[in-house]
Amino acid sequence: MSGVLPDNGGGDGTTSGAGALGLYVHVPFCAAICGYCNFNRGLLDEDLKPRYVAALTREIDRSGDGSRVDSIFFGGGTPSLLAVGEVARVLDACRDAFDVAPDAEITLEMNPESCRPAAVTALLEAGINRISLGVQSFDDGELARLGRAHTAARARDAFAAVREAGCGNVSLDLMLWLPAQSRAACAGSVDALVALAPDHASLYMLELYPNAPLREEAARRGWSQAPDEDAAAMYLDALSRTDAAGYHQYEISNVARPGRQSRHNLKYWQDGEWLGFGCGAHSTRDGIRRQNVSETVRYVGAVEQGAPVTETDRRLSAEERLGDALFTGLRLAEGIDLGAFERRYGVDVGARYGPDVRRFAAAGWMIEAAGRWRLTRAGMLVSNEILRTFV
Ligand code: SF4
Repeated sequence: MSGVLPDNGGGDGTTSGAGALGLYVHVPFCAAICGYCNFNRGLLDEDLKPRYVAALTREIDRSGDGSRVDSIFFGGGTPSLLAVGEVARVLDACRDAFDVAPDAEITLEMNPESCRPAAVTALLEAGINRISLGVQSFDDGELARLGRAHTAARARDAFAAVREAGCGNVSLDLMLWLPAQSRAACAGSVDALVALAPDHASLYMLELYPNAPLREEAARRGWSQAPDEDAAAMYLDALSRTDAAGYHQYEISNVARPGRQSRHNLKYWQDGEWLGFGCGAHSTRDGIRRQNVSETVRYVGAVEQGAPVTETDRRLSAEERLGDALFTGLRLAEGIDLGAFERRYGVDVGARYGPDVRRFAAAGWMIEAAGRWRLTRAGMLVSNEILRTFV
């Protein structure tokens, strides 16, 4: 595993007190467990699922304060394992408890193998208006090595079904730098993605955590990841291909058609506020960061008993808020506005971090212009090292 490649984000962002809230709904169930996955998830338990959905609606209900909400995101796990009626119940709970804007962006993550055309139509009728499909690769050998339950053909069928149902805002997830993946194969998957013309795409470098089952299997079977230079080339080449197809890179790992950036995820990177529901979900609001208990059964039990589900709950210091806002803001291609930071945090970040930024600029990793700082693509390749400076 290289330490020099962009990771998949996951920053919690900070609070601004401005703008509408986002709501994140965690669905921890999966049909199978992928050998690289480090998310909070487990195998689908059909008996637990209805109790979990009831717990979600109860948690949403008791957290509701009528605040304006302009994005809802069902993430996981595999949210497409919920029945349409279950998704609709959670959405109803959100609308009852909050002032959900009529044009709110409402995303559901879907795995190709659990995409059923009739269900997609019903999901759109229930209010889902953005679908994020976890494709990961268009090569069946790579998908098998990852332990994914779908084939490339199944992913194409799922995309077609989502479009035919009338979804005008579709995102595809692709992973780069897979075990035994060549640069040509990586480019082939990016081209296959572009050929489908999604509205948005997330292009993540595969990160294998220390004890990932896939790491051991890859070592046993000789599926090595390409050297770091090739990994960097895969990332830059993927972005060249999405550039050429008219996508705009707006974050280290995300590209979109004009106006199709993820409104929800921008809250994490633009100093926004959100509430998370479900096991392990994070919230950040009014300078307070909160995390729910991670374990699904404990979460459900706590809600059923009317007990708190919060595991950690603490007020961020001014320094933490500033550091987090810099860390997440610099993930954006447009970077950060120094004047806006000074007005919000009362800190002259230009004076504090100027020498570091000039060092990064001399290396070709950052650009300082018009009162803004931003990473170059070469800087995005070493973003883990650069962003550490600010937290
Ligand atoms: S489907 Fe997604 S959340 Fe579930 S195990 Fe695979 S990578 Fe993890």
